[in-house]
Amino acid sequence: MDAKQTKTDGKSVGAHPRKLPQRLSAEIIEEVERQLGGRTRDIRLNGELAYLFRERSWPQASKIIRAWMAWVIVLDVLALGLNAILLPIETVEPMLLPAAILPPAAIVTEIAFRKPLAPWQHGVFLLSGVFLILLSVALVGVNTGGEFYERHLTIMLFVAVTAIVIFPMPLSWAIAMAAYALGIYLTFQLRNPDIAVGSAIAGTLFFTGGVAATVVARRTAIILAQKTFLLELRDRNRLADLTDANTRLELLARTDPLTGVANRRSMMDALQRCWKDEQGANAIAMLMCDVDDFKRLNDNLGHAEGDRCLVKVAGIIQSSMRDEQDQVARYGGEEFLVLLPGADDRIARSIAATIRSRVEAASLPNPTSRVMPYITVSIGVATASRDGDRASAEDLQRRADAALYLAKEKGRNCVVSYGDKNDQAMK
Ligand code: GH3
Ligand code: MG
Ligand code: MG
Repeated sequence: MDAKQTKTDGKSVGAHPRKLPQRLSAEIIEEVERQLGGRTRDIRLNGELAYLFRERSWPQASKIIRAWMAWVIVLDVLALGLNAILLPIETVEPMLLPAAILPPAAIVTEIAFRKPLAPWQHGVFLLSGVFLILLSVALVGVNTGGEFYERHLTIMLFVAVTAIVIFPMPLSWAIAMAAYALGIYLTFQLRNPDIAVGSAIAGTLFFTGGVAATVVARRTAIILAQKTFLLELRDRNRLADLTDANTRLELLARTDPLTGVANRRSMMDALQRCWKDEQGANAIAMLMCDVDDFKRLNDNLGHAEGDRCLVKVAGIIQSSMRDEQDQVARYGGEEFLVLLPGADDRIARSIAATIRSRVEAASLPNPTSRVMPYITVSIGVATASRDGDRASAEDLQRRADAALYLAKEKGRNCVVSYGDKNDQAMK
């Protein structure tokens, strides 16, 4: 964590604007839970978490700080304009030079907060910008003297307090601002010809109480913002876990656990989708494959061997598909259904023939089969086209089943198409 901390602490925020990562690392999640497990007031973000928090809060922080800079410029110009109208020229004149410091300082800071920079660079810009702004406000009064002297020092503290309360900045920056605002106040009050040293110190101590309260408020605001951020990370992580679990469940609900191919339900959905897809292929073919004399294999070699055989047959069928459009499903027991979008009877028969011959060539033992001492399959083929016959998805399946029945009747280990004119079985 420490190595990471030094690496990420100096990173500029928003340099590559990115959303929070979809998946948070185990270390981060552990740290989030540790922080949330403790007392709210003890929350401290370090390393990657601190970086993510800055990334998250940067757009808002930038907006607030820039708006405040615009606000002080407007206030400065407005105050000067009003004074020019209402006060004699000799009173306004000494105000001009100090008041002129403020706009450039605020504009530079505003520009600095438009672009992403390293946190320390933003810190330098903000602390020096605000310092010059406060100095400008104070000097307007100091230069003019009289009633303006103390009034402007108080206005300066007011400006500092608004910054401390509303800037979403680290606590150290808020403390620095409070310290130099009170420093400016004390320094100039000690030089105020109209008040005694004791009064200057007492006034500063009084305002220190108020400014300190705003620093405490800033600290509370930081901690609450960080806690909200941690809760958001926790929610995000839980949601990701839930989504993963749902995806796994969805997959489980659609997969045959023995062979790993799709199950019947998944195939029925795919068939309906394929059927309803107006943009899809015009033709559609279905193969119903059934292992011949499978019961005899089970009876002779045992159920476990039967299972192994089913896995191999499923693999052979899957490997005979043209692409991911073609779908294989275990329909039940030792029956497999194949969906071939876009395939006409010729293509479908050719794929069925490939499956049949590959299963035969695999020479998986079935010693008492009536066909041969190896595993064989019979396949029924059915096709339909959208503009040809308007058969339903269920019709297609029934036809494939009927063709399979014929294939069994023809002696098994063969391919039969539904509606074959001469009922010719094909090897
Ligand atoms: P046919 O050539 O007419 O298809 O004969 P068959 O013996 O293959 O057909 P039948 O429907 O009589 O037998 C199917 C057998 O498949 C019966 C059942 O014990 C077996 N079976 C069904 N599901 C499984 C399974 O998951 N594992 C195993 N090992 N056998 C299964
Ligand atoms: Mg069967
Ligand atoms: Mg069978």
